[in-house]
Amino acid sequence: MNKRLIVGNWKMNPLTLSDAKKIARMARRAAASLLHTEVVICPPLVFIPACISKIEPDTVSVGAQNISAYEDSPHTGEISGTILHNLGARYVIVGHSEVRAVGESDETVSKKIQMALSAGLRPVVCVGELVRDEGGAYMDTLRTQIRDSFANVPKSQARNIVLAYEPVWAIGAKEAMLPEQIYEMSLFVKKAFADVFGHDPAMKVPVLYGGSVTYRNAADIISVGKVDGLLPGRESVNMSGFPDLLHAVDSVPI
Ligand code: PEP
Repeated sequence: MNKRLIVGNWKMNPLTLSDAKKIARMARRAAASLLHTEVVICPPLVFIPACISKIEPDTVSVGAQNISAYEDSPHTGEISGTILHNLGARYVIVGHSEVRAVGESDETVSKKIQMALSAGLRPVVCVGELVRDEGGAYMDTLRTQIRDSFANVPKSQARNIVLAYEPVWAIGAKEAMLPEQIYEMSLFVKKAFADVFGHDPAMKVPVLYGGSVTYRNAADIISVGKVDGLLPGRESVNMSGFPDLLHAVDSVPI
């Protein structure tokens, strides 16, 4: 691993374009001093053009929060991977639990991953259990979710995928999962990824953790949880919390 990856999911924030520009400026400034941490910001779609710097090379990359499962017209209201790429986006979050919760199936997630890859976008594919039951049934759920979400995705594209383990019960919660458990689960999702793509791609796929990450717990999650990066939601639009999170992660030796 060369660099850690932090993908900020802004969700449906902020409410105005001027605030979006401020948050993007904050992220860019903080990212400028990082040595081994790469930063992606994922604003609401309408703010993406304003969040892309005209000056190259940029210190942050910009991603979208969703993508259409279809390539071409006619699909009213949909945004294709090609449109996103032409806008300047380079990443896209796929299969977020908040999208799955309103009806997105593993089959649709698989189509979206394929669309993202063929448009030249890196999909950040979210997987995670709804609950963590005593009997361990959540492991089967997770294994199936990974198998079905990556069904039909060409093996040759595995190197362009980012896997985000986000236990749904820890998203928008008070506390993150314990770093020791994150470590166990990151190994588990890698193993499930290996079942689909084979051993070598699984050794290389970056695994991020998401779920109530803050500047306070970020360094522990990276060092004890041994993940390759983080997917913070609320903290990614926090004007002081996000720079502190980035610096905390960057201070953990690679
Ligand atoms: C998320 O949006 O994916 C997320 C993990 O949110 P939060 O960090 O706010 O829990």
